[in-house]
Amino acid sequence: MRCLIAGGVGFLGSHLADRLLKDGHEVIVVDDLSSGNMRNIEHLKGNPSFSFVRHDVSEPLQVSIRVDRIYHLASLASPPGYQKRPVHTLITNGFGAYHLLNNALSMDARFLFASTSEVYGDPSVNPQPESYWGNVNPVGIRSCYDEAKRFGEAMVMAFNRKHDKQYKLIRIFNTYGPRMDLRDGRVVPNLIGQALRGEPLTVYGDGSQTRSFCYVDDLIDGIVRMMESEEVGPINIGNPDERTIQEFAQVIKKLIPTAGPITHLPLPKDDPLQRRPDITLARTKLHWEPKVKLDDGLRKTIAYFETMV
Ligand code: UDP
Repeated sequence: MRCLIAGGVGFLGSHLADRLLKDGHEVIVVDDLSSGNMRNIEHLKGNPSFSFVRHDVSEPLQVSIRVDRIYHLASLASPPGYQKRPVHTLITNGFGAYHLLNNALSMDARFLFASTSEVYGDPSVNPQPESYWGNVNPVGIRSCYDEAKRFGEAMVMAFNRKHDKQYKLIRIFNTYGPRMDLRDGRVVPNLIGQALRGEPLTVYGDGSQTRSFCYVDDLIDGIVRMMESEEVGPINIGNPDERTIQEFAQVIKKLIPTAGPITHLPLPKDDPLQRRPDITLARTKLHWEPKVKLDDGLRKTIAYFETMV
């Protein structure tokens, strides 16, 4: 098959490109390089089944050959990153979904939109099932991302209803692994980078807020299963292994002996207090569940960051 990945130079997109090429498909990566690093696809240059197009999906994309699959993963994803470029984040997700859905429609391709656990906002139920409508601050500093993803979801469902299609939605929970951007400000690269440099580990707030971290290979497998299933979703893809951020910092300290002490900084505004996926649907509909344990995934991630610091 010929697969188009919007956002294919990024952390998740480049791993998806690797997986689809390994499965024997052709891959076209479309990316505006706003956060993706060309280093992530360096190893694919020269592969005859791979091509790269520099394009911002908030503008219509002319595709001259038929593609079978369109994955929309193009978005800034780290809170400091999307808060610096809030308008770009809104239009990449929103207009991007609209334009790429039109591409899918015109070519009769399957389409998948990478939504997020952020549609649940600061959730009042834990774990979060897909049926939970969420608790998002529509005017807060995270709204440019949360509402962009919610708009993208609404756009996919509107196309499904209008055109009688089965375009797909997944909700991605916190994911980590090699090729994360060391400087994007998220907790995984921040703490690993700090530990490798022998600096204090910055835990925001008292560290009692929780996240559930999924290793990238597990996540990519979930995405591919979703695309090839008959499901529309939304379906949560994430690892239910929930940790407080304080606990997470302690795991990093255990794995990286050079880590400095844990230090506390103010909790950013609207930071969700808890987050854990209910993956019953992924288990039953996609026969998917994560396999990689946190310590094992972090060891691989640390080995990657060691080459960067
Ligand atoms: N966080 C932290 N120290 C850091 C970076 C982030 O304690 O250096 C916290 C952040 O406040 C949040 C959690 O770690 O509670 C996860 O943050 P991240 O930016 O990775 O992603 P989010 O899940 O908030 O989108």
